[in-house]
Amino acid sequence: MTCFMCKGNLESKTSTFMVDLGNCIIIIKDVPSEICSQCGEISYSNNVALQLQKIINSMRKTITEIAVVHYSDRVA
Ligand SMILES: [Zn+2]
Repeated sequence: MTCFMCKGNLESKTSTFMVDLGNCIIIIKDVPSEICSQCGEISYSNNVALQLQKIINSMRKTITEIAVVHYSDRVA
Protein backbone atom coordinates (compact mmCIF):
# COMPACT_ATOMS: atom_id res chain seq x y z
CA MET A 1 0.00 0.00 0.00
CA THR A 2 1.17 3.55 -0.74
CA CYS A 3 0.09 6.92 0.57
CA PHE A 4 -2.75 8.49 -1.41
CA MET A 5 -1.32 11.93 -0.70
CA CYS A 6 2.31 11.55 -1.76
CA LYS A 7 2.70 7.89 -2.83
CA GLY A 8 5.15 7.34 0.02
CA ASN A 9 5.41 4.02 1.83
CA LEU A 10 2.85 3.23 4.50
CA GLU A 11 3.98 1.65 7.75
CA SER A 12 1.73 -0.33 10.05
CA LYS A 13 1.75 1.41 13.42
CA THR A 14 -0.67 2.43 16.10
CA SER A 15 -1.86 6.00 16.46
CA THR A 16 -4.21 8.05 18.58
CA PHE A 17 -7.54 8.91 16.99
CA MET A 18 -9.34 11.99 18.26
CA VAL A 19 -12.75 13.31 17.26
CA ASP A 20 -14.44 16.52 18.41
CA LEU A 21 -18.21 16.07 18.38
CA GLY A 22 -18.88 19.66 19.37
CA ASN A 23 -20.07 19.09 22.92
CA CYS A 24 -17.64 16.28 23.68
CA ILE A 25 -14.31 14.86 22.60
CA ILE A 26 -13.48 11.19 22.18
CA ILE A 27 -9.87 10.01 22.17
CA ILE A 28 -9.13 6.44 21.10
CA LYS A 29 -5.60 5.25 21.76
CA ASP A 30 -3.54 2.50 20.12
CA VAL A 31 -5.58 2.39 16.91
CA PRO A 32 -4.04 0.12 14.24
CA SER A 33 -3.10 2.52 11.43
CA GLU A 34 -1.15 2.86 8.23
CA ILE A 35 1.14 5.85 8.58
CA CYS A 36 3.05 7.37 5.67
CA SER A 37 6.78 7.41 6.34
CA GLN A 38 7.12 10.44 4.08
CA CYS A 39 4.33 12.91 4.95
CA GLY A 40 2.84 11.40 8.11
CA GLU A 41 -0.63 10.97 6.65
CA ILE A 42 -2.63 8.45 8.69
CA SER A 43 -5.10 6.07 7.12
CA TYR A 44 -7.16 3.21 8.48
CA SER A 45 -8.26 -0.07 7.00
CA ASN A 46 -11.97 -0.39 6.23
CA ASN A 47 -12.43 -2.65 9.23
CA VAL A 48 -10.69 -0.27 11.64
CA ALA A 49 -12.64 2.70 10.27
CA LEU A 50 -15.85 0.73 10.87
CA GLN A 51 -14.82 -0.13 14.43
CA LEU A 52 -13.97 3.51 15.15
CA GLN A 53 -17.41 4.54 13.93
CA LYS A 54 -19.03 1.91 16.16
CA ILE A 55 -17.04 3.05 19.19
CA ILE A 56 -17.97 6.69 18.56
CA ASN A 57 -21.64 5.88 18.05
CA SER A 58 -21.83 3.85 21.24
CA MET A 59 -19.94 6.42 23.31
CA ARG A 60 -21.49 9.68 22.14
CA LYS A 61 -24.69 8.87 24.04
CA THR A 62 -22.95 8.22 27.32
CA ILE A 63 -20.13 10.75 27.63
CA THR A 64 -20.57 14.36 28.66
CA GLU A 65 -17.27 16.05 28.00
CA ILE A 66 -14.23 13.93 27.22
CA ALA A 67 -13.52 10.24 27.04
CA VAL A 68 -10.27 8.36 26.54
CA VAL A 69 -10.41 4.69 25.61
CA HIS A 70 -8.07 2.07 24.25
CA TYR A 71 -8.98 0.58 20.90
CA SER A 72 -8.24 -2.96 22.06
CA ASP A 73 -10.55 -2.54 25.07
CA ARG A 74 -13.47 -1.65 22.82
CA VAL A 75 -12.95 -4.13 20.01
CA ALA A 76 -13.38 -7.78 20.89
ZN1 LIG B 1 2.40 10.49 2.27
